[in-house]
Amino acid sequence: MLFMRPGQPHEPVAVPQVMLAPGEVLVEAEFATVCGSDVHTVLGHRSEATPLVLGHEAVGRVTALGTDAPLALDGTPVQIGDRVVWSVAVHCGACDRCRRGLPQKCRTLRKYGHERIGQGWELTGGFATHVHLRAGTAILRVPEELPAKVLAPASCGIATAWAALAAAERTVRFDGATVLITGGGLIGLAAAAMASERGAHVVVSDPEPGRRALAAQFGADAVIDPVMGEPAAADPRYGAVDVVIEASGAPRALVTGIESAGVGAAVVLVGSVFPSDPVALSPERVVRRQLSISGVHNYTPADLVGAVDFLARAWQRFSFESLVGECFALGELDAALVRAARRREVRVGVDPRAS
Ligand SMILES: [Zn+2]
Ligand SMILES: [Zn+2]
Repeated sequence: MLFMRPGQPHEPVAVPQVMLAPGEVLVEAEFATVCGSDVHTVLGHRSEATPLVLGHEAVGRVTALGTDAPLALDGTPVQIGDRVVWSVAVHCGACDRCRRGLPQKCRTLRKYGHERIGQGWELTGGFATHVHLRAGTAILRVPEELPAKVLAPASCGIATAWAALAAAERTVRFDGATVLITGGGLIGLAAAAMASERGAHVVVSDPEPGRRALAAQFGADAVIDPVMGEPAAADPRYGAVDVVIEASGAPRALVTGIESAGVGAAVVLVGSVFPSDPVALSPERVVRRQLSISGVHNYTPADLVGAVDFLARAWQRFSFESLVGECFALGELDAALVRAARRREVRVGVDPRAS
């Protein structure tokens, strides 16, 4: 399904022949979910070179291989029939940023769901019956028993949540820590569940009552309405906050998070993926409290492995499947995007095999 420009319906196109270069893989899509960034593009809030195939949260099955089958993340060759998820980023593995451990910022980065289609690479996104995976994509074989609704969002928000926790863990241990998560979207909910699994006291702040109720099911020990509530640091049950994960993108949430952060805390920004007003920061507070402030954008292949391993052991304890609400056939993609823009559910589904 080709996205042309905001306000114009998607156009179905046929790709009659896919030429797979060495190391490339063709996946038959099983299920996809709509990310907030897809909605932003469709509404014209961000501009991408078009035409393109949107969608970067998907699960599928390998249906064809080029010569030199690539290795999956477990080190074994990808095989036809494997059920897989894959990284949003295609990275070279050789440039300075890849070598520094920042493959999501590769000098020759390409991203599924974000690239203008071109001759030889038309199937560039998840809103399609098939996806053409380029060499340099992290490919992860996934268990058959995991529901597709659990797996599709793994390659965006859930792996990003894992990366955010990893960033905090460079300076703070989660076991026994108090963790404040601002924003109860997919990243915030997944981060809450992951922090809870690691033994943290988890506080989630979100202005929407429905999201606060969900957070309570995803490991939050307490929820806060940021409009009405006090910063978590003022709650005597929790003491100072050791980790702040800012997953909302709201500048005010970041201010509250930094004000709540106690001595030695890690503050991780992960929600601000669009321009916002600058925030006032007290440099003295950062110094005297020895705060570590970091930004996390997307994730590394290791984070994708961590996220899927987490889902495999925790998807029944935390109801990730229930985060996907209404589902649409691929031909109803425009309706799916309209529905997603209403934010009734955390994720809207797209089923490429339904009609
Ligand atoms: Zn996404
Ligand atoms: Zn690179």
